[in-house]
Amino acid sequence: MKCTILGAGSPTYQLPYTKNTHLPAYLLEDGEDCILFECTENMVTRLSEISVPLSRLSTVAITHVHLDHFQLPALVLSLFCTKIAGGQISDILTVYAPQEVIRAYYAIMDLQVPDRKGRGFEYPQITFVPVSDSNNRTGSLTLMSKPVYHGNGAVESVAYRVEKQGKIVAYSGDCGMCEGIKTIARDADLFLCDSSVQIGDFSSSSKYGHFNPFEVGIVCKEAGVKRVVLVHYAGYDLPEAMITECKRSGFTGEVICGQDYMTYEV
Ligand SMILES: [Zn+2]
Ligand SMILES: [Zn+2]
Repeated sequence: MKCTILGAGSPTYQLPYTKNTHLPAYLLEDGEDCILFECTENMVTRLSEISVPLSRLSTVAITHVHLDHFQLPALVLSLFCTKIAGGQISDILTVYAPQEVIRAYYAIMDLQVPDRKGRGFEYPQITFVPVSDSNNRTGSLTLMSKPVYHGNGAVESVAYRVEKQGKIVAYSGDCGMCEGIKTIARDADLFLCDSSVQIGDFSSSSKYGHFNPFEVGIVCKEAGVKRVVLVHYAGYDLPEAMITECKRSGFTGEVICGQDYMTYEV
């Protein structure tokens, strides 16, 4: 499996350490199989940057409804317009998402495309698969999801885990400390984890629901993670300091601070 970070950032800009990173999006590829995790701004432009044809994009997995993770209607508009202009897209789009995301998608389409009177766009043909504590099969990959704690516990959020032939890639979405994230991260070869809270701030994990780098280390140590990539970078701390702080938890695996367009093989 190959994982490409299409967006390692947060909706924070022009702070001392922000690097103009894109909002969260990660592409997992394995042979014919291809899953886009999260769908945010300028998605097609970023896929074009790494030469992924739109005909390859047939599976999307969303963790929760927040705007910095879910801008699917804009992607669907791009696909529709590309198709009617004669371009190549996948005619089928399967979207794994919590129910709250699915409801939001139809509500946004009703509000922003009133001329189509609830019919949405003809292309691509979208199939939503509601996820919570779920196991699904997508091509040759197993896609597991677990509910995780986020948004003061008032947002339906999941984390994802992909398995193939004993190899494991896990992604936290946004979350604070909970059993769900430890299950998702268990023995992961590669774990992309929300690390958006400032070093030394322990107030979010059990309240709003984000991790600081030390807390990420605690999860990784407990779960037996082999390699963690700190993502959803908000620009509070230098990357080197975040890596040191993560390791201070006692986690002895590899720690990387994620950047846009980095790739990892598992
Ligand atoms: Zn969120
Ligand atoms: Zn977020």
